[in-house]
Amino acid sequence: MAAEESSRPSEQAAYQDLFEKMLDPVFLVDGDESQIVDLNVSAERFFGLSRDELLKTTILSWCVESDREQLSRALRIARRRYYPHVQELKATIPTGSPTGSKDGGVESKIVELELSLCGLPLKDGTQLIQVIAKDVTEARAISRKNQEYLIALQELNKKLETLSMTDEMTGLANFRNFREELQKENIRASRYISEYSIVFCDVDHFKVYNDKNGHPAGDQVLRKLGEILRFCCRTTDLPARYGGEEFVVLCPETPSEGAMILANRIREAVEKTEFEFGAGQPLGRVTVSVGVSSFPAHGANDEAVLQAADQALYKSKKSGRNQVTLHEIE
Ligand code: GH3
Ligand code: MG
Ligand code: MG
Repeated sequence: MAAEESSRPSEQAAYQDLFEKMLDPVFLVDGDESQIVDLNVSAERFFGLSRDELLKTTILSWCVESDREQLSRALRIARRRYYPHVQELKATIPTGSPTGSKDGGVESKIVELELSLCGLPLKDGTQLIQVIAKDVTEARAISRKNQEYLIALQELNKKLETLSMTDEMTGLANFRNFREELQKENIRASRYISEYSIVFCDVDHFKVYNDKNGHPAGDQVLRKLGEILRFCCRTTDLPARYGGEEFVVLCPETPSEGAMILANRIREAVEKTEFEFGAGQPLGRVTVSVGVSSFPAHGANDEAVLQAADQALYKSKKSGRNQVTLHEIE
């Protein structure tokens, strides 16, 4: 070992022993040329080369071309510092088996190394760099795989979340999502003393439609209604399938006048749409009845406002269907 001479021979022997018995490959390299000047047995074993073969090389020569500049930089830094500088790089190491080529070369593989580099000044003024190499190929591969799994899991969770909030048939928000958003809007509007409205729609005589034309045809009507609702609403509104043949729209920051405009737009759009077998309906077309209510005018909380919209819808049904009714305070 070409390290600093110790005044106590027993101490030097102990350090020599430590150096040789380290399981990680350790090198001492020349501070100027990066030439290997000493190495331990683990280094010989790791590189599959003899001590003499390794002493003829520089550590830059194992490094893959693309990482060489970075290693040079790390060596320059290590020369000036006496605490370890860690540098990761890819290195080409021989695997031991002959390639079968004429020059008798051996096959090699690329490994990922974590080098710990540290300046080592000797008493005679020579500057060496100690290099401890750790093979992190497997650890990095596992960590990359874990990262891939994590990204895939995050994407899957996002999809699941979307699915859990969406009505499969219409692609609109589902009941649960609507109720959550309504609750949030109610808290927000109560705190900031603002308004919101609810537009409640129910398909007229839908049982008749199903009985006459079958459930799959009924499903088609519901899908089309989903599209109409989406088309009629603002991006800030939340159209949802409340359940069965009932649809609802949450209109944040909207007083009842605005919600009535939307409700009429929806009713008219449905009336004007040509649905298959629509002529066979009691009203001669597929139609919807609509009820509208607003916070705080028609209810003190989300439950009350929803109930008010339902009552208004009931009035639309009672007075002949295919109508829009604004809740009235009795
Ligand atoms: P009203 O004008 O009073 O609303 O009459 P209606 O027939 O629409 O009301 P009713 O509540 O008697 O019937 C609702 C029908 O909606 C019955 C049910 O079979 C149908 N329905 C509910 N969900 C679905 C669905 O997902 N697909 C289909 N095709 N039909 C559905
Ligand atoms: Mg209904
Ligand atoms: Mg109905």
